[in-house]
Amino acid sequence: MHQMTLAEIARGLADKKFSSEELTKVLLARITQLDPQLNSFISLTQELALEQAKAADVRRANGESGALLGAPIAHKDLFCTQGIRTSCGSKMLDNFKAPYDATVVSKLASAGTVTLGKTNMDEFAMGSANESSWYGAVKNPWNLEHVPGGSSGGSAAAVAARLLPAATATDTGGSIRQPAAFTNLTGLKPTYGRVSRWGMIAYASSLDQGGPLARTAEDCAILLQGMAGFDPNDSTSIDEPVPDYAAGLNGSLQGLRIGVPKEYFGAGLDPRIADLIQNSIKELQKLGAVIKEISLPNMQHAIPAYYVIAPAEASSNLSRFDGVRFGHRCADPKNLEDLYKRSRGEGFGAEVQRRIMVGAYALSAGYYDAYYLKAQKIRRLVKNDFMAAFNEVDIILGPTTPNPAWKLGAKNSDPVAAYLEDVYTITANLAGLPGLSMPAGFVDGLPVGVQLLAPYFQEGRLLNVAHQYQLNTDWHTRTPTGF
Ligand code: GLN
Repeated sequence: MHQMTLAEIARGLADKKFSSEELTKVLLARITQLDPQLNSFISLTQELALEQAKAADVRRANGESGALLGAPIAHKDLFCTQGIRTSCGSKMLDNFKAPYDATVVSKLASAGTVTLGKTNMDEFAMGSANESSWYGAVKNPWNLEHVPGGSSGGSAAAVAARLLPAATATDTGGSIRQPAAFTNLTGLKPTYGRVSRWGMIAYASSLDQGGPLARTAEDCAILLQGMAGFDPNDSTSIDEPVPDYAAGLNGSLQGLRIGVPKEYFGAGLDPRIADLIQNSIKELQKLGAVIKEISLPNMQHAIPAYYVIAPAEASSNLSRFDGVRFGHRCADPKNLEDLYKRSRGEGFGAEVQRRIMVGAYALSAGYYDAYYLKAQKIRRLVKNDFMAAFNEVDIILGPTTPNPAWKLGAKNSDPVAAYLEDVYTITANLAGLPGLSMPAGFVDGLPVGVQLLAPYFQEGRLLNVAHQYQLNTDWHTRTPTGF
């Protein structure tokens, strides 16, 4: 039962082959049995899950239908869930029970999803390895000595290990696509503004975007359908109709123009990954796509710009965690300054503190123009590169990451080495564009992802291309040994 995709679950529930309650019990037992190896969950919500599953079964018995009605999922632990701990992977929020549901959570719940729990993540979504969580590192089910990617590593590891079919995630600089690549999943970062950020604890507000992590493009379409849409509570949400993503999966790729940026194949890329990307290009050519070499000349400036803008926004967003209003408070503060200093010093981990310091420095008087303003100008250049490219091509294709998943601890002493691994994903966040990663093969037994980028609001095009690719390849069907 645990091998089923969301689409297969929807068919099984509709055909009354099993109930949501039966499925939920199987998956909860599987999580209890197998998750100790992975650490992919911060909280399990068994009671809520069984309640929601029973309610979904009743709704179905009363004639309701829908692909998400009775579908078991989990939420990354930065989506606020009413009355349930919402920790953001941080000691700071270990005792925080959100007083309301995030829009994503309430939308999915009304579509009938069953919440099995809250997944582990890098602290405040800062990281590419899920090693900065206060709740401990997450392991990659493909090799337990390797990282699952981050920051949505818990969602990715859980779905890859077949503990559940799909999960929500967020992507500020690659945190949906990179863990998807590292664990052989399909993950979609939507256009900025497509999915509401209301109730999604902020890391870098102008870059953050929620999206689905699942095994197939078809499942991403199903989950995105339940997440996307205008939300008056989020001032950056865009009032643009949500297409029927599942209905668009079967479009022909005949004549599809795929741009392959020459800058993507530089020295930093593992040559074995480069070969797998070429294979995926050939596969898409067989389906009728036409390949064109393009250029994204400002790509080299994206990492430094991102690692100024994201920490700057983070330093501002995280100032609310002061030990007064909510979150961790130190014991016996001597005075207000002591309260602030010790609460924040004890509540935040090393990577979060590093970014707050970098961000506060970049925003300080005298440095603002030199760093923050300059980074924003680079951001515009990165966007302009994409706009020029999309005049010539329909999608852009390349590797999701320059290397496969590294060993746990391998980059702990050198944070910049980890930042450099984000080279292919962060440009989409800087520009606000949608991006998808899908399985493209293996290197030393570790999964490799191919990334597709599309113009604004063309999530449907990405899902269509990925679905057609997955009808003709079987990488996405491979299951890690032991799971
Ligand atoms: N690895 C990037 C960072 O650490 C992206 C994280 C994310 O997308 N949340 O900032």
